[in-house]
Amino acid sequence: MLLDRRTFAAAGSAAILSGCATVGSRSARPSACAPLPPVKVDQSRVIRTIAGLRPYRASGFVVRTEPLGDKRLVHNYGHGGAGITLSWGSSKLAADLGLSGHSGPVAVIGAGALGLTTARLVQEAGFPVTVYAKALPPDTTSNVAGGQIAPFGHFNEDAVTPEWRRQFLAAMDYSWRRFQIMVGDDSASAGCLPSSRRAGPSSSRDR
Ligand SMILES: Cc1cc2nc3c(=O)[nH]c(=O)nc-3n(C[C@H](O)[C@H](O)[C@H](O)COP(=O)(O)OP(=O)(O)OC[C@H]3O[C@@H](n4cnc5c(N)ncnc54)[C@H](O)[C@@H]3O)c2cc1C
Repeated sequence: MLLDRRTFAAAGSAAILSGCATVGSRSARPSACAPLPPVKVDQSRVIRTIAGLRPYRASGFVVRTEPLGDKRLVHNYGHGGAGITLSWGSSKLAADLGLSGHSGPVAVIGAGALGLTTARLVQEAGFPVTVYAKALPPDTTSNVAGGQIAPFGHFNEDAVTPEWRRQFLAAMDYSWRRFQIMVGDDSASAGCLPSSRRAGPSSSRDR
């Protein structure tokens, strides 16, 4: 039975879920319900308490270039609560900006989701890359994040430009397809990976 979210929330949920309630004795539970092991929740089971920040710009994450002497500096920051969601896509925009017309090695600063995806994309494009970082995983914000695909909490609706919205959509499109490939969806790979990695048996190793 398929219900839309509103119908489910308004009317269906109580009736549907009541059939699976785990309150009461095990023998009283309807056999159609898959038994879920009870969760052991207790303060003594907390192994670590950490905090992380979600820095962002009201006008949205920043991907742009700037000359730095004879080098090209590419900024890729400010993803707030959606940096993992946007990582592959935002880093693809950054890599494309930085690598266009470039030759020689590439330096990436930072070993969070954005730095590591950028480094991987640069590597896939055939350039030697070195990552420089003050902290490595597991001591990065990226390492403490929930890691859900959730493109929210990283801009203010009233402060973004149409140009930025296009950048956001382009980043989401690429990110989504990259994550799909990682869970084995071949149909998502069109235009996503270098052709040498798409074809042939060796490509499956990289998923
Ligand atoms: C609790 C929490 C939950 C979250 N949940 C989600 C989620 O479910 N989904 C989602 O998409 N996003 C989530 N986020 C947001 C996401 O974690 C961030 O947007 C993302 O991790 C940012 O990645 P980053 O690579 O820019 O930064 P970081 O992971 O912070 O990495 C920065 C890197 O740069 C290095 N660095 C910094 N300064 C210097 C310097 N001066 N010199 C050299 N190196 C430097 C650091 O050492 C580090 O290696 C969450 C965030 C938090 C805090």
